[in-house]
Amino acid sequence: MALPRNRRVSHYSWIRMHVWNNKRQVFVLLVDMSHPHSNSQRDFIVSVRKQIDQNPRFFDENNWSNIVPKGGRNSSLLKVICHDSFYVRPIAACVPHLLFNETPCCPHCGSRRHVNINSARWINSPKILYGLGTHKCLDTMLCPCNSCKRHFAGYDKVSMGHDQDTTIGFFNMKLSKRFAVDEELFSFIISSWKTPVTVTRQQLEDVATRKHLSDYKCYLHALRTKKIKMRRLFYDEEDPTQPMV
Ligand SMILES: [Zn+2]
Repeated sequence: MALPRNRRVSHYSWIRMHVWNNKRQVFVLLVDMSHPHSNSQRDFIVSVRKQIDQNPRFFDENNWSNIVPKGGRNSSLLKVICHDSFYVRPIAACVPHLLFNETPCCPHCGSRRHVNINSARWINSPKILYGLGTHKCLDTMLCPCNSCKRHFAGYDKVSMGHDQDTTIGFFNMKLSKRFAVDEELFSFIISSWKTPVTVTRQQLEDVATRKHLSDYKCYLHALRTKKIKMRRLFYDEEDPTQPMV
């Protein structure tokens, strides 16, 4: 499990869109980005992975596309919560062999015969999955093919294309090499095709700003009512998850 420790997270990433011909493809570009996950986010990812590893029926009771951390920011403010919980985003975990109970097809040889799901391992770092006003972490596992001697990700588009009889209609996220866009954001952009790109971009920035301010007001409320507890004992100048007040 090789998630990189976070050193610096940008809050000023931006989205640029291009609409091409009738296909209206959406390209998401991020700039000013180093490691994508804070330490508290990393802890949550590790925790969810452990739960999935230990329970193959994990998805029976958990929405694979929206695994939300329990407690903390998502609990009532009647009890003390940790400041770290304000930084944690939900996870979408695409693990085809657990979601469909079937070995996925290798995208290279087009066969599932030599795919060894027992040796599947988690990817090094989840993709950032962009939505309206916020984001999630899109996680998946790498499956090895003993024939091709190569690995492929669970959300590999070619692999899902081979398995479309099983997967069609299930995975509705749009993938680029490094990032992903959820259906809600994608629909918003596509339905804004009559609007100038600069206006659409400004609207998205406004939504993200309002979401951020809303979270901030909640944090201040918790602070005023003395419901914030400090957890981390060690402080790092470059760690953005440590308390600032
Ligand atoms: Zn193969």
